[in-house]
Amino acid sequence: MVICPHCHAKSIPVLAKLWSGSADPLACSRCGGWSFVRSMFFGFYALLQLLLTVAAVSAFLLWHWWPLAVFLLLVAGWVAWLALWAPLVPISADRARIHRRDGRLALVAFLFVVIAVALLAR
Ligand SMILES: [Zn+2]
Repeated sequence: MVICPHCHAKSIPVLAKLWSGSADPLACSRCGGWSFVRSMFFGFYALLQLLLTVAAVSAFLLWHWWPLAVFLLLVAGWVAWLALWAPLVPISADRARIHRRDGRLALVAFLFVVIAVALLAR
């Protein structure tokens, strides 16, 4: 558990912290206060997907497995940093609602661009 920036209790699960981002803030189970890890937008999984894609493409192009090993090391370091040192930024419930709405809009816009590029590339 990590410390909530609102009530200063150890009330936030590490996994919830790992999955939070400015577009997907988390709520404290004790006081209901909202917070997120500032360095992330959608959270851990977005960076994971990007790193895995880069590692997989690099491994295929170079025909070696070391990019995937580098990927695993980066992920281990990133998880340790997030769990142990990355600060949670407190925000109000109103700001959290706005962040979540903007995050969903950004996700829809991103999916629209991906689909448009895929259709144009055919
Ligand atoms: Zn709290």
